[in-house]
Amino acid sequence: MSLLVDRYAPSPTSDLHLGNLRTALAGWLLTRSAGGRWLMRVEDLDTARVAAAGDAAPRQLADLKSLGMEWDGEPLWQSERLPAYAAAVAALGERTYPCFCTRREIAEASSAPHDGHRAYPGTCAGLGSEQVARLGRHRAAALRVRSEGVSFSVTDVHAGDVTEPVDDFVLLRADGAPAYNLAVVVDDMFQGVTRVTRGVDLKSSAPRQAWLTTMLGGIAPEYAHIGLVTNAQGSRLAKRDGAVTLADLSAVGLSQSDVLAMLSGSLGLGQCRTADEALAAMPAGSLPDDNFWAPATWDGEELVIQ
Ligand code: GLU
Repeated sequence: MSLLVDRYAPSPTSDLHLGNLRTALAGWLLTRSAGGRWLMRVEDLDTARVAAAGDAAPRQLADLKSLGMEWDGEPLWQSERLPAYAAAVAALGERTYPCFCTRREIAEASSAPHDGHRAYPGTCAGLGSEQVARLGRHRAAALRVRSEGVSFSVTDVHAGDVTEPVDDFVLLRADGAPAYNLAVVVDDMFQGVTRVTRGVDLKSSAPRQAWLTTMLGGIAPEYAHIGLVTNAQGSRLAKRDGAVTLADLSAVGLSQSDVLAMLSGSLGLGQCRTADEALAAMPAGSLPDDNFWAPATWDGEELVIQ
């Protein structure tokens, strides 16, 4: 059997909250319990948001370490990978095309968004070189990949087959920055990732990313999507929900072990006070039960499995 390689890939645009930490722990546990490698990647391409967060990356890494989630090797920093993204775009060659549409034009021409993603209606797919040159004098173009309307399936180890249509999604934004869907694929290939564990909010993006992996000559990974932590009103956890980061929780008197116990409890593994204890509570040779994959609610004091 080949070695399992998973990664945790936080965006350093805020400190990690309980939902992020729960997903990280789930990935660490799934990987370590299978004897796999757990890699770290700092997704710091959105430079404006990273700067606005006062560069949260060192704090994120320190939080994971302090909870006992050690990763293998050095973290990969996306801001140092720009030549790799450019090479991937070049390799796609004719499969890419410039797109001059504004957000508003896309919204007007396409159907309602699905899981936050609005399928691109293909407006610029047929532009000739003269039209491109003319439009390029007035507007900067994003770069899209030509998907030819395929549907693509991936395997989620818990949810099973996930099939979604792949639209002509953005590879490079109009400001030239690599888009998340490009960077994530190039880096998962580079890091030799065989399984991606992350929040379920990205489940519907998996077919798009796996398809691009195959277009770049790679083998699509399998996925493990974990339920999100929401607040009592059912919205995604955020700063306004009070003490949700490790620093906040420590300020109200909760130790690292208290937080670990909450996280492991919310994954259905019981109140384990260290990451290693949680690892020992993982079932041998099978995937954990439904509680592990379920969403949880943070009511301000406790993480409750939904
Ligand atoms: N950086 C992304 C996030 O923090 C995760 C991307 C991924 O795991 O594919 O939401």
